[in-house]
This record gives sequence, C-alpha cells and structure tokens, in this order.
Amino acid sequence: MGLVREPAPAVQATPPSRTSTPPSTTRPPSTHPASRPALPAAVTYVPPTDPVGCPTAGAVAAAQNLADLQRATEGCLACPLGPGRLKFVFGEGNPQARLMFVGEGPGRDEDQVGRPFVGKAGELLDKMIAALGMQRDQTYIANVVKCRPPDNRTPTAEEAQACLGYLHRQIELIQPAVIVTLGATPLRELVGVSEGITRVRGQWKRVKVGDREIPVMPTFHPAYVLRQYTQEVRRAVWEDLKAAKDWIDRPGPED
Ligand code: SF4
Repeated sequence: MGLVREPAPAVQATPPSRTSTPPSTTRPPSTHPASRPALPAAVTYVPPTDPVGCPTAGAVAAAQNLADLQRATEGCLACPLGPGRLKFVFGEGNPQARLMFVGEGPGRDEDQVGRPFVGKAGELLDKMIAALGMQRDQTYIANVVKCRPPDNRTPTAEEAQACLGYLHRQIELIQPAVIVTLGATPLRELVGVSEGITRVRGQWKRVKVGDREIPVMPTFHPAYVLRQYTQEVRRAVWEDLKAAKDWIDRPGPED
C-alpha cells in the first residue's frame, strides 16, 4: 500500500517562464505576463494500512506542531532503516516557510548530527538559497526518509512509503507555497512522477497533501550538481530555483 500512482501528466519540453507557453492544465492559462504558470494534476497519497510499527497514524495526525510531530516519530522503527541510524533526521527550518526543500534521505554527515543537508551538498544548497536572496532558516528542509539508508543507497519504495506519512504531516503543518524536490527520489515517492529527473526537472508538478494541492518544482540534488559541476547543470538548477522563488513572490489564489 502507498502512493496511488496515476499516469504521468503531460509535461512540457522547457521550464515554464513568464513568456513560455503553459503546459496542459485544468486551469485556463493566464495571459498576464506576471501570472504563475499552470500546474498538472496531483496524485493522492494513501497511507500504508499494514501495522508497520510505531507511531500510529493517529499519533502522527494528532501532532499539532512540528515539535509534537518530531516527538511522536523520533523513536520510529517502522522500516528496516530505523535500527541502523545514529540520529533521526526530522528536518529543520522555518515552521511557516513558504519555500520547502525535500531531499532523499540523510547521508553520513546528517546521520551523525541529526540535521538535514549539512555536508558538502548542504553547503551547496545553502549557497543556492543565498543566491535567491534568502537564508536557510527562511526555508524548511526535510527528506523523504528520516533515517540513513546503509551506504547512502536509495531508499526502497517500501521504506519511503513507510516514512512518507511523516513528511505529509510536516507539509500539512508548514503549508509551504512551493516545494522544491531535490533529485529523483522525492519526485517519485512524494509526487508520484517516475520519469528521469534529467527529463522532468524544471517542469511544474503538484502534490496533494491533506486538502491542499501544492506546486512542486523538481530539480537536481545538490550532490549530483557537485558530481556534474558543469555550467549546464548549474544553470538548470538556477533556473528551477528561480522559478520557485518567482512563484512565491507572485500573489496567487493558491495562497
Ligand atoms: S526511515 Fe522513517 S519509517 Fe523508517 S524507521 Fe526511520 S523514521 Fe521510521
């Protein structure tokens, strides 16, 4: 049980911009040059119904703030990643952030200190945020899984889906205006889009969390940018982050 996957929505060949043609949409495209780009349909997350360990779905739903949610979930052993962690990496940032980043899972550095994105990739993410004219603590940063996968492998679908309810509740409590997914895993597990990140980065998606649909901008993971430190990759990430920033800077009916 887990994410109900629907056929991938129509995608556009280039990132939306103030002058580009909007993708196919349920909403009529605006001709106003400063309007937000239209979004494709969202998928719906269905929490696992198997008894997967602590905490209960009721305890997660009852958390009324991020501190409550962290207390409710930090002892979790609901998937095989739990027993191997050094530190539970809940996430951190502004509890009312309009811009939220979602990565894959903690790495070695994050596992040791219990904070997301603190290694080299985190330093690059901080620089990206600064380039937008923002500070890290104005955003919120979390991962799909809260415990480090061994050898930094990609979390399995079962691990991701076991943990996803916590991320959903985090998003419900934060209510960001935009989510930026970093790499293929959060795009696949949170948004339900399995196409290659190279193909779909820069193309607006949306995710349904609770009763809200939230725009999602997929981009590369900072660790990938460090490995492929080319002008093309860096420019692509900059365009994606700028699109997300433009979204939150424009007033819209979704807010
Ligand atoms: S990764 Fe998530 S579901 Fe798995 S043990 Fe850690 S907190 Fe629980």
